[in-house]
Order: sequence, then structure tokens, then C-alpha cells
Amino acid sequence: ASLSRHFSSTPRIMAPISKETDLLVIGGGSGGLGAARMAAGKFGTKAMIVEALRLGGTCVNVGCVPKKVTFNAAALAEAIHDSKAYGFSVQETAPFDFGTFKQKRDAFIKRLNGIYERNLANDKVEYVHGWATLLSRNEVEITLDDGTKTTVRAKKIVIAVGGQPTKPTDKIPGAEYGIDSDGFFDIDTLPKKVALVGAGYIAVEFAGMFNALGTETHLFIRHKTFLRAFDPMIQEGVVAEYERLGVHVHKESTQSRIDKDPSTGKLTVHYKEGGEEGKLEGVDHLIWAIGRTPMTKNIGLEEAGVKLDDKGYVVTDEYQNSSVDNIYALGDVSGRVELTPVALAAGRRLAERLYGGAQFSTARIDYDNIPSVVFAHPEVGSIGLTEPQAVEKYGRDNLKVYQTSFTAMYYAMMDPEDKGPTKYKVICAGPEEKVVGLHIMGQGSGEMLQGFGVAVKMGATKKDLDSCIAIHPTSAEELVTLK
Ligand code: FAD
Ligand code: NDP
Repeated sequence: ASLSRHFSSTPRIMAPISKETDLLVIGGGSGGLGAARMAAGKFGTKAMIVEALRLGGTCVNVGCVPKKVTFNAAALAEAIHDSKAYGFSVQETAPFDFGTFKQKRDAFIKRLNGIYERNLANDKVEYVHGWATLLSRNEVEITLDDGTKTTVRAKKIVIAVGGQPTKPTDKIPGAEYGIDSDGFFDIDTLPKKVALVGAGYIAVEFAGMFNALGTETHLFIRHKTFLRAFDPMIQEGVVAEYERLGVHVHKESTQSRIDKDPSTGKLTVHYKEGGEEGKLEGVDHLIWAIGRTPMTKNIGLEEAGVKLDDKGYVVTDEYQNSSVDNIYALGDVSGRVELTPVALAAGRRLAERLYGGAQFSTARIDYDNIPSVVFAHPEVGSIGLTEPQAVEKYGRDNLKVYQTSFTAMYYAMMDPEDKGPTKYKVICAGPEEKVVGLHIMGQGSGEMLQGFGVAVKMGATKKDLDSCIAIHPTSAEELVTLK
């Protein structure tokens, strides 16, 4: 049922499907595509990829890509507002045709699906559209679009089936009236009022976008802050900024019931906030954004001996080996860092290790120091340890923490109430002041972090940062002139 919530797939006329292959990849998302294309395109391996929905997986269809396009629309709304301060005569609430925007966004994704399919053909990966289940350690059954089944024998199998949004339907009466991040991308009119539940990347990104586009936005979180996996500077900084921007952050809240008005379709969220009962009426959409669940149920994994952990993730070692020889798992389903470039790199490294010969015999992804960005308002980025993690690892006395908070020059022309915050923190360890954590919050952080990420991966020290001449006038220059 959950699968039907994705875009419907286009029926395809298929060539006869091979009965045997060297590498069979289940899941045509970031990780699966990375593995199959590298194996076939670079090393000439006979490879097949099976995808039940649309090529590109979560990232392309219901994740990073349509999210970033929507984020860009929200950023434009903010820029239109900001432009007044620079002397432009603009309507305060410029009309925004969300329906047209959504159609264009969908068309863009469809183009990408086509490009992905052509890329597979160019790399000579056999693409089968269907639902795969394991029959044994080297046999996969594929249910094709027309309902027929075919069995393929494979020397090696990669499980790259990703995950799907978690919904608390068994816990909260009426929870089924809410949608999830997949449903977010089906919304075709800009809602007047939304409620989001969750405190991670998705809840924070969606709340920021809705608010910037003019929707009354309520964000329900279980604790006092959101983004709790991030440095306290970011948690506290973004919560304060969201409240300043007008997002209604319901802290220490739980939901007891959701009602739906059958005539208007509007929802009422009954909740408790800091012990007080409350209800939020007239909600157009309630969006659950409380994490994701791996898609490992009923696909024959356990029957084939593949060990899953208590949350359903495939247990893998650092080389993506599962508990069964010649079965591998990577990307979101391996329960590590759920990011597209991580899945893609894990897929590529695995294909190199399996088919690249001696020079790649130890190829694997390094899960340390992975940079990530939350497309919040403003953007935040992070690599390495948070301050509490660094204290635990190195001890407070062995750390030097550099921090700055300032108003970016972009805001120079603006009234005080329109000025956004910028905050940076660099955490250094040991006498050589090696950078072990770098956390940034402010406009442009998404683009900035990549370069600093390279420096941190190379083992940069504070002195290395300082030795790079500043680029003026930018916000990033503050990171090479910290005192
Ligand atoms: P997926 O991309 O989920 O691919 C798995 C594929 O397997 C799916 O296409 C599915 O249909 C298919 N499948 C599942 N079971 C079967 C089966 N039995 N048979 C055949 N096919 C099957 N990451 C970032 O780096 N940056 C971002 O900005 C970002 N934004 C995101 C925004 C949202 C709303 C979401 C939900 C995620 C976002 N992510 C982002 C995370 C990113 O999308 C995932 O980490 C990434 O897609 C994981 O890739 P994967 O290959 O492991 O799985
Ligand atoms: P996350 O795991 O990031 O966050 C979910 C959070 O919701 C939890 O950490 C928890 O926070 C809170 N939560 C959990 N259960 C409940 C509940 N029952 N009620 C209220 N709150 C709850 O999941 P997301 O769904 O946001 O995103 C999934 C993954 O996708 C991310 O981890 C990220 O890896 C990836 N992603 C990456 C993006 C990017 O790179 N920009 C963008 C979007 C997604 P707490 O404990 O504080 O309550």
C-alpha cells in the first residue's frame, strides 16, 4: 500500500529478461544505481537492477531533488521580501502559483527519470521494472508490472531497498489522516495551515519552507529543541530563528488524537504541550516526519539467512557485507548515515571492491567526518563532532572552541526585524588544534560546507584554516579569521 503513494510507474515494453546475471541489485535508488553502474559501466560486469517504482529512488522522486526545488521557491519568496530593503518596489505578498510550480517540478523529475534510464542503458545495466524478493541466497523472484513472475540467478546480490516514512498509525487514533514526506510532494495547492510532527531534517526543512511561502506552520516536537543530533549552537540557534520567523514551535508536545471534518476535510490535532491540553483546528495537512523505516519486510531476507537488527536494518560490516556470503546491503537500508551521497559512494566502493581487481581490494566508504546540511531557514551545516561529543572524546581541557555570531552583510540594508543570524563554531583538539568539529548556520551554509569538509577530511588544523587568505566580503571568511 505504501508503494502506491509514490508516483505511478509508466508501463514499459521489456526485452526478455536474463535468467542469470553476475550482479543483481535490488532497488534503483542512489545506492543501487551507484553499484550497478560502476560494476557494469566501468568493469564490464553483467549486472541487473530491479526497481519497483521510479528510477532514482527516494532522492530523485520524493526526497532531495523535489525538496531542494521547493526550498529554492521558498528562498525566492524570502528574496522578494528582502528586495524591498534594497529599494525594489514589490508587492509584499507576491502571487505564487503553487499548482504551476508543482507541475513544473513534477516534469523536471520525470525528465530525470528518463536520464537515469538512459544512463543505465549506456552503462549496459539490464533494467527490470518489478518487485524483487529473495528466494534463496542466489535466486531472486521478480514480479513484473503485468503480475507475471520470473526468477533470476545471481552470483552476487546487493540489497539497496531504502526506507519509507514512519507513521504512528498504531499509536495515535486518527494518525492515518496525516500524510508523510511522500504525500508532501503530492500537495498541489499551497495550504493555509499545516502541522508537522518530528524534529529531524525533514520536519525542520518542510516547516521552514511552508513558513517562508506564507503558510501558517505548526511544528510539534517532543523536546525543547529540534535537530538534537546537531551541535547545541545549531539546535538553539535554529529554534530561536524559527520562532522569530513565526513558526509555531510546540515544545515538549505529544498528540493524543487527530479528527477529520468529513465535510471540509480539515483536521483537528489534539495535543498536550508541557502538560497542558490543546487543540489545533482547521489544519489542511498534518505531516508525520518522525523518521524512516527500512523496506526489509517480506522480501525473503531473513529466510535467506540475512541478519536484520531490531529496527529491520540489514546488519552489515564496514565493507557492506551482510551476514550471508555474496549478499551485500548499502544505503538507507544499512542503517548508517541516511544521505544520498553516502548511499552512492557505498555502492560505487562496493562495485570497485568486488570487480575492480587488486588495486580496489580494500575499497570501502569512510563513514567518519561526513558533512551534511539541513536546508533550514537559515541553512545549517555540520561535519565532525558536536561540542558535547568532542568533550566526551577528548576531555574539555584538550579542546579549544572558536565561535562567532554576526550579521551577514546581506542584511546591512534591512530593518532590525529582518536581519537573520549567522553563527559558526570550530572545535579543535590537542596541542596542534586539529579541527574535529565544524558547525555553521547562516545563509549559504549549504554551498560553503563542501570546501571546509575537504579541509577537515585532510586533517586541517586551526593554523591551516588561518593560513588561507580570507575572501572578502563573504561570511565564509569568518571561518579563517576566528579568534
Ligand atoms: P532509496 O533512494 O530509497 O532507493 C531504494 C529503491 O528501492 C526505491 O526506489 C524503492 O522503490 C526500491 N525498492 C524497495 N524495495 C524494492 C523491492 N523489493 N524490489 C524492487 N525495488 C524495491 N539526502 C541528502 O543527501 N540530501 C538531501 O537533501 C536529502 N533530502 C531528503 C528529503 C526527503 C524528504 C527524504 C525522504 C530523504 C532525503 N534525503 C536526502 C535522503 C536520501 O533521499 C536517501 O538517503 C537516499 O535516497 C538513500 O538511497 P538508497 O539507495 O539507500 O534508497
Ligand atoms: P530523522 O531521523 O532525521 O528525525 C526524526 C526525528 O523525529 C527523531 O530524531 C525524533 O527527534 C523525532 N521523533 C521520532 N519519533 C517521534 C514521535 N513519535 N513524535 C515526535 N517526534 C518524533 O528523520 P527524518 O524523517 O527527518 O529524515 C530521515 C532521514 O533522511 C534523515 O535522518 C536524513 O538522514 C535524511 N534527510 C536528509 C536531508 C538532508 O540531507 N538535507 C533532508 C531530509 C532527510 P527527537 O528525539 O528530538 O524527538
